[in-house]
Amino acid sequence: MAKTMESTIKNLNKRLEAYIPKEENMAPPDKALYEADSMFNTKKEVADKYRLDAIKYAFKLHYENNKFYHDFCVEHNVKPDDIKSIEDFSKIPLVSHKFFKDYPSGKDFAVWLANIMTGDIPKIKIDKKNPSFDDVIKSFGNSGITVAYSSGTTGKFTFIPRDERTFKSAEYSIARSVIEMLYQWWEYDSYAYLLFPHSFKTNLYVGKVTSVLFDAIKDVRAAIDREITTDIIRISMGRPQGLKEKAMAGMLKLASKRMNEKMVNDIIEWMEKLENTDKRIFFAGAPFILNMVMDKMDREGIKFDFGDRGAVMTGGGWKTQEDRRMPVQEFREKVKKFIGIPENQCLDLYAMVEGNGFMTQCPEGHYLHIPYNYYYPMVLDENNEPVGYGEYGKFAFLDSLARSYPGFIYTGDRVKLLERCPVCDRPGPVLEPEVKRMAGEEIRGCAEEMRRMLLSDLKEVSK
Ligand SMILES: [Zn+2]
Repeated sequence: MAKTMESTIKNLNKRLEAYIPKEENMAPPDKALYEADSMFNTKKEVADKYRLDAIKYAFKLHYENNKFYHDFCVEHNVKPDDIKSIEDFSKIPLVSHKFFKDYPSGKDFAVWLANIMTGDIPKIKIDKKNPSFDDVIKSFGNSGITVAYSSGTTGKFTFIPRDERTFKSAEYSIARSVIEMLYQWWEYDSYAYLLFPHSFKTNLYVGKVTSVLFDAIKDVRAAIDREITTDIIRISMGRPQGLKEKAMAGMLKLASKRMNEKMVNDIIEWMEKLENTDKRIFFAGAPFILNMVMDKMDREGIKFDFGDRGAVMTGGGWKTQEDRRMPVQEFREKVKKFIGIPENQCLDLYAMVEGNGFMTQCPEGHYLHIPYNYYYPMVLDENNEPVGYGEYGKFAFLDSLARSYPGFIYTGDRVKLLERCPVCDRPGPVLEPEVKRMAGEEIRGCAEEMRRMLLSDLKEVSK
């Protein structure tokens, strides 16, 4: 019997039961995420109702419980009663993505994080006199707050504190978004390779949020199975401080070449073992890692043919070399050629550490669908005024799932928003594939820091 979307979601929800709040505890954003019958396929009127309730609720929550955001709204002369319909959404004051990069160090970093947070400030215990970022992140973790981050080419991190509920909804949301698009493929009894740092050994957002993979798929291994901290990322991004760190940068450089080779070999071996079984395989993560694997297969004349048993979900950006972007289409063709996975099961996802929305490509047209029950996308011009569908501009969003920080944010990414997908019949809005940075914005992408970390040639980034 062919699988239906309905039965797949039912099975998934059973697997992810621990992520879903009890019905009596559900607020409007939870209903929009967990109750709606689909992330991308909900009828427009139904989705509009869900997100009006959800975003009104979230705006009120942050207005009333977050001092900095409250003051920001007062400055803009907007209050919760002003938001009555979706047309009013553009009145909600947006925080710049740069705000989350503007942090102090030491104990002040902990204070800064606590001040961003909505609601009760968690009790944080920090023993050290001059704690590092990693020390502070760990202390927040001990109090149930996941401080996840990404970093850009200038070496600045973006830090976002998520309480347990927000983090769980992000994890559920990414799993659900991906599996809805791959519902015919998904089965719990499968094998996955995470092409990111191991979820339990990093707070790098892409690694962290994909921890749900371990609950959605039976057998998961990670390509980068070692601890990845902000210190390691900073040094490998070419910003060592002092002699000791310079020596470490040199060691990282030596180690990474050998580790890369091992990583690539391990992945090929894994495919070899699984090829002649009836098991399903899944690659989730940075495309450049799979690209390295396929380049090696090409050199050695290796090919696999997994066919429909295989699926790929990439994320984190498309740079393969310093100045080269791999065209997504070319990547899909390569995956088909070397691993035999069909193009309609090779999809990409666009997200950022600041949000809990995962724009996911549809199998039919590879447009990035927006989970529009709980998340409202916007495109802004240079004066931060919203522009209509079909025009390029800065991506911004109202994210109702963010409870521990205000998720009303504009980014530095350049996008074009379309009211509907030109190819498939899902009713929600889409972004054109291949999101790029706005001119003048630093390169960022979840895969970018890893790419730099893994590539042995670190000279070019250590300017
Ligand atoms: Zn589509």
